[in-house]
Amino acid sequence: MEQQQQQIDLSKTTAIVCDSCDGQLFHEALVLRKESRFMSGLPYDRTVPVPVFACMECGTIVEDTIPQPLKELLKDTSNDEHTEAIQ
Ligand SMILES: [Zn+2]
Repeated sequence: MEQQQQQIDLSKTTAIVCDSCDGQLFHEALVLRKESRFMSGLPYDRTVPVPVFACMECGTIVEDTIPQPLKELLKDTSNDEHTEAIQ
């Protein structure tokens, strides 16, 4: 095995907490997207699972774990007046 994995110094990391409830425990969840056969050129529609992390307490998805293009899409559909909390 090559030593490609970078050592992570946990003391130099910061905690990620849930935006909604300040929870600190998360579980992996899948956002499912459907790709139309007309877009993919395949003979069938396919389901695309996108792994994200969601709060174990309230189910809110951690934004940092959402891939950028999907983030935009999820923002568009969830129409709450959540102004961007940039810290
Ligand atoms: Zn939460």
